[in-house]
Amino acid sequence: MEPVTEREIRASFVNCSKGEAKRLPVPGDLADRPWDDLDFLGWRDPAAPQRAYLVAPSDDGLVGVALRLASPAAGRPRRNMCSLCLTTHPGDGVTLMTARKAGRGGQQGNSVGVYICADLACSLYLRGKKDAGPGGRLHESLTVDEKAARTGVKVAGFLAGIVG
Ligand SMILES: [Zn+2]
Repeated sequence: MEPVTEREIRASFVNCSKGEAKRLPVPGDLADRPWDDLDFLGWRDPAAPQRAYLVAPSDDGLVGVALRLASPAAGRPRRNMCSLCLTTHPGDGVTLMTARKAGRGGQQGNSVGVYICADLACSLYLRGKKDAGPGGRLHESLTVDEKAARTGVKVAGFLAGIVG
């Protein structure tokens, strides 16, 4: 994706109040992010472990969503697959995150959930830029570009479900 600024990020949020978008923690190292290798920018709130954020380009410009991590469920499988990049991680490496829907849907308490890499580094896993460990990545005959395109489609679908 193209590099984005803090101002663009704060203006992109669709499912939180303007006040929340103004206060939420934007990464301080935007200049050092590997933008060429990112399909979206995702980060966790260092001060609030149950909060995360995802910002991605779309046909309608940048779309940002605030996410909440679900509490770990008892009896969950030992390994889970990220639904966006199809990387498998043990334990809490994949977690369910939920996004309140934008607008009226969100006011009515509706949300959309996604199983996602807990560090939101999907773009790097699918490009082999970050090691997911033994068995983390399926062997596929797709090119990196094809995998990135697939993840882009899944992210767009997730965001479309939030925007409604
Ligand atoms: Zn992932």
